[in-house]
Amino acid sequence: MTRPKISKNRISRKAASFEESVIREMTREATKYGAVNLSQGFPDFAAPEDIKQKAQEAIDEDFNQYAITWGTKDFRDAIVEKSKWFLGLDVDPETEITVTCGSTEGMIAGMMATVDEGEEVIVFEPFYENYAPDAILSDATPVHVPLYFTEDGWNCDKDELRNAFNERTKAIILCNPNNPTGKVFTLEEMNFIADLCKEFDAICFTDEIYEHILFDETQNGKGVESRPEHICMANLEGMKERTVVVNSLSKTYSVTGWRVGYCIAPPDISNAIRKVHDFLTVGAAHPLQKAGAYALSLPESYYVELQKDYQKKRDFIVPVLQDVGFKCDFPDGAYYVMTDISKFGFDNDIEFTKHLIREIGVAVVPGSSFYHDSKLGSQQVRFCFCKKDETLEAAAERLQKLKS
Ligand code: GLN
Repeated sequence: MTRPKISKNRISRKAASFEESVIREMTREATKYGAVNLSQGFPDFAAPEDIKQKAQEAIDEDFNQYAITWGTKDFRDAIVEKSKWFLGLDVDPETEITVTCGSTEGMIAGMMATVDEGEEVIVFEPFYENYAPDAILSDATPVHVPLYFTEDGWNCDKDELRNAFNERTKAIILCNPNNPTGKVFTLEEMNFIADLCKEFDAICFTDEIYEHILFDETQNGKGVESRPEHICMANLEGMKERTVVVNSLSKTYSVTGWRVGYCIAPPDISNAIRKVHDFLTVGAAHPLQKAGAYALSLPESYYVELQKDYQKKRDFIVPVLQDVGFKCDFPDGAYYVMTDISKFGFDNDIEFTKHLIREIGVAVVPGSSFYHDSKLGSQQVRFCFCKKDETLEAAAERLQKLKS
């Protein structure tokens, strides 16, 4: 029997124009070669018992059908409460919140809801790899503004940032605390961005999923025993009406597989996000939103402990990386270390990552996956440290082989 001919154009131009996620691929490579996985940013330790318990109870209590598309009332109310005490932000649960399937869906739904073909979206580079396909799928034209690795951390050139804005600029994406660099934007930098958004009538998408993972600066050579403060872009003067805050349960409560996130946006944008979200997914998992309502109402002590745990992990892994030859600094926030690998003499990050996974036994993410032009990241790799102490210790031991 002759098979019907397959059309050459079965794959859309959009889908053909980006590759599968390198971050997720590295986890599969780690499993394949038995490497310690410091690539994809997910904890390898258990989620808090009480939060898991609430999810189980919600299933037992039969919250097993669709939730309201934009999120259960109790979860939205919990978001309102938490945004008030933690961010100092007043949010209306009826018109300004959309619960999504993770911040991943929140970001793309937000962009699809606001950006039209040909409109420009500014992205700091290196950037979390999802933002590139997000731009393609939402028809945005990405405009990259480099963050340079300097003595003083990762910083952009203010003139370059200003020059990136023009009348076609629809939005800027901020990831703060930043994946992959660990940068925490200062109030001064945020005001500079906010002023540009207002001047050019642009929206700010702010990915704040690492809002609780901030480190004190004692190890940073700054000798200051204080943490940078998390500042929410929506809280700056005149920004609430032009900001989409994207957040999720994933990192703060160690439940990356639950896929529960949310967007806080002004009513007109929320309305559009809700429509996009509805037809993409109908809604996020109902019982997990019930557990989310509980998680968001945890006392401040939960977050203090979380910071302490991650601080210990950061302060363990960074000196190990520096000692074996990576050039890197202590991140101020999030749970990644972006490193320079030039000392190892590899042609590029892909070759180095292969060597690290297959010969050394540690998986990382090649730097090029955070840049629009692979050359820019060819001497960098990213480590993540949201792992058990014994996982980090095992990685440290294996990394010693790089010294010989
Ligand atoms: N945000 C995490 C990272 O950068 C996980 C990404 C993902 O796989 N969704 O590694």
